[in-house]
Amino acid sequence: MKNYRADLHIHTTLSPCGDLEMHPVNIISEAEKKGLDIIGITDHNTTRHCKLISQLAAKKDIFVLQGAEVTTKEEVHCLVFFEKTDALKTFQDYLDTNLPDILNVPEIFGDQVQVDENEMIIFEEPRLLVNALCKSLEEVEKFVHSLNGLFIPAHIDRLKNSIYSQLGFLPDDLAADALEISRNSSPEKFGAAHPEINRFPLITSSDAHYPENIGMASTNFYIENASFSEIRFALNGDKGRRISRI
Ligand SMILES: [Zn+2]
Ligand SMILES: [Zn+2]
Repeated sequence: MKNYRADLHIHTTLSPCGDLEMHPVNIISEAEKKGLDIIGITDHNTTRHCKLISQLAAKKDIFVLQGAEVTTKEEVHCLVFFEKTDALKTFQDYLDTNLPDILNVPEIFGDQVQVDENEMIIFEEPRLLVNALCKSLEEVEKFVHSLNGLFIPAHIDRLKNSIYSQLGFLPDDLAADALEISRNSSPEKFGAAHPEINRFPLITSSDAHYPENIGMASTNFYIENASFSEIRFALNGDKGRRISRI
């Protein structure tokens, strides 16, 4: 086994707040430059860039955890990831069904474009992706787990769109696979003020919206190979797998 360096929170050109330089080819080349072995693709309420990025990354021996950053009804951001293509597709349908019918205004919120490997636009999402789904944190968690996915509340230390900022506390029965601490804090620092988080695995990631952000925070996975099941083992501390932070 060995350490694989992972940044599990990266946005693309599909997120309105994602820079137009965050197209699939550029993301992979930045990840390679930064020495990342595993990246998570987590656009706001969409998984539509995951497949292409996964295909391109495989050529560079980088593993892609495919998912999204979901905004729940309470406006809590949560990272979700899926192993199987059919689960990812089912979750995309869930996002499409539960996203409010409010159109994006690109001049205000930014472009939401899907591109191909030649950086040509192939789709533009008409609805504003940063809006909250009409599903609660618990409903999203249960749906993600029904698809055998991973559910990770994002940047829990942030004063906006985090479980603490929106709920004011960490629910006792929260069924999270891990919690994410933003690059502005640290698990040690935030865990000292909120010891209840220490019952969960804690990951740190970049929440990159610009190429230069990629890899600014990362988590080491001590695993046999870069795969979904090994990452799950590491989060659970199973079979000698584990996470460690850089
Ligand atoms: Zn977020
Ligand atoms: Zn994000």
